[in-house]
Amino acid sequence: MDYPFQEQFAKDLASLKEAGTFKEFGTLSGYQGAEVTINGKTFLNFCANNYLGLAGSEMLRKAAHEALDKYGYGTASVPFICGTMNVHKELEQEVSKFLGTEDTILYTSCFDANTGLFETILSEGDAILSDELNHASIIDGVRLCKAERFRYKNSDMSDLESQLQVASGAQVAQVKLPNGTTRPRRILIATDGVFSMDGSTAKLPEIVALAQKYGALVMVDESHASGVLGATGRGSIEALGMTGKIDIITSTFGKALGGASGGFTSGRKEIIDWLRQRSRTSLFSNALAPVIAGTALYTLKNFDTLLAPARATLAENTKYFRAKMEALGFKLGGDGKHPINPVMLMDEKLSALFASKLFALGIYVRSFSYPVVPLGKARIRVQLSAAHTKAQIDTTVAAFTKVGKELGVIILPL
Ligand SMILES: *Cc1c(COP(=O)(O)O)cnc(C)c1O
Repeated sequence: MDYPFQEQFAKDLASLKEAGTFKEFGTLSGYQGAEVTINGKTFLNFCANNYLGLAGSEMLRKAAHEALDKYGYGTASVPFICGTMNVHKELEQEVSKFLGTEDTILYTSCFDANTGLFETILSEGDAILSDELNHASIIDGVRLCKAERFRYKNSDMSDLESQLQVASGAQVAQVKLPNGTTRPRRILIATDGVFSMDGSTAKLPEIVALAQKYGALVMVDESHASGVLGATGRGSIEALGMTGKIDIITSTFGKALGGASGGFTSGRKEIIDWLRQRSRTSLFSNALAPVIAGTALYTLKNFDTLLAPARATLAENTKYFRAKMEALGFKLGGDGKHPINPVMLMDEKLSALFASKLFALGIYVRSFSYPVVPLGKARIRVQLSAAHTKAQIDTTVAAFTKVGKELGVIILPL
């Protein structure tokens, strides 16, 4: 049946296909893991955020069954009406304990945590400084707030400082509140802890030092770092010795910490209390499903004991993959500390072709190109997991070698 603008939508879709930016979705049958099944064929999966291998694990399936029986299927309410259960409060306390923060508020995703953050704590006249490579949810959250926006170059501390000078200069003017009173302009610096396309870590000590110099708050999104970086897996903040120095932390249970869904904002007590009162993605959206909350609680409570071996394997796998790939002559991005390992191919078409040839060889990875990454910086993002065996990594490296030679990306001595 015809409907208004149908042709336009069809044309928009066709133009994506023409530009080569149309996304084909691979549909998995069965569990998420080191191996996945797509259309009846088995692939080695190197593109999940399943860093600790928990997503399809028997351990979490069991924990989830128990949580389901204990708390039921849903809350049928938003947190502030009647959707808050004991398990949510316990999980909030456990997250605070895990991160060494004062308090925590849960959301159904980190996307919601981020979109519910900025407009709740910043108003007209305030200033937000955001790294240009921050996640889409931070970008959207910043768009929703009325503060003056500053975007600084990725991890460029001199650019951040010069923008802080501008932002703090306006501080003298004070912010007029709707009730007629004034207060000093709030300044917030927002950054990903780990940048997802590069696998590089934010310069948190430098950012904190600049924040102190200019009287700004610091917000770090630890989604890719939680459970992965740091001596005890608490994230980039721990890895860089910044525990207790970050005002606001957001993160997800959808990556290393389980792989289902759910997110949170953690940090200074008064800020979290204010979010409970005013954050729209909490006030107007159902509470996190209790089965997810219960399973996340299980993961955090047992993190230091049960998951220490997985964290060690993950670090080892990352090192192993990088060493092999670099020895072959591939150029890898990132700093080598995170399981995100971009294989830099630069050319958009080459990168897409490379990924499709790997797919034909049974290796599931994705090519990322403009506009997700800058033009001329196309790459295949390889994500390691604790679930991978050395043999599976070897198979993937062999496939990269075969395709790399075929496409002239690497030249091996005869
Ligand atoms: C994945 C990710 C999110 C979104 O997390 P969800 O819980 O899946 O909504 C937010 N921020 C960053 C930096 C991420 O990598």
